[in-house]
Amino acid sequence: MKKNQNKTCPSSLGQVGSNLLGVVNPSGTVGFFGTPIEVTPEFLEDAGDNESLERRFRFSNKCIQSGCRQWTGKECGVIKAVLALETIPANNDLPACSIRKTCRWFSQEGAAACNGCRYVVTNVSEVTMEQQESSVS
Ligand code: SF4
Repeated sequence: MKKNQNKTCPSSLGQVGSNLLGVVNPSGTVGFFGTPIEVTPEFLEDAGDNESLERRFRFSNKCIQSGCRQWTGKECGVIKAVLALETIPANNDLPACSIRKTCRWFSQEGAAACNGCRYVVTNVSEVTMEQQESSVS
């Protein structure tokens, strides 16, 4: 098995088959959960307003590499773009996160990814149909 495969996408869709990774706090940063929480139909029903789901929560799912429009051909382009922003304050504390061992962004950028990651709110319009379809299968 190649090292680049079987990674987890830390910015996926809120749907059955994904896991709940964290909650977007009123301050705009993400509070991560130390253990993965499976997204169930009941969770989606309780969460309400599915239109804003990814602006209120962060979800993880399998990284589908070239099936996602954020794939550059060899890595995920999202975290590089995030870390290029000069507005992200430095913070050396690694959040307790349930997916670090397989996280795509951590595998690419190490601890710096986790610092930038807390400021990321998933932009659903940038997630492809391929990802939506693969995530539920
Ligand atoms: S970048 Fe770090 S904090 Fe964000 S999902 Fe990956 S391991 Fe967790």
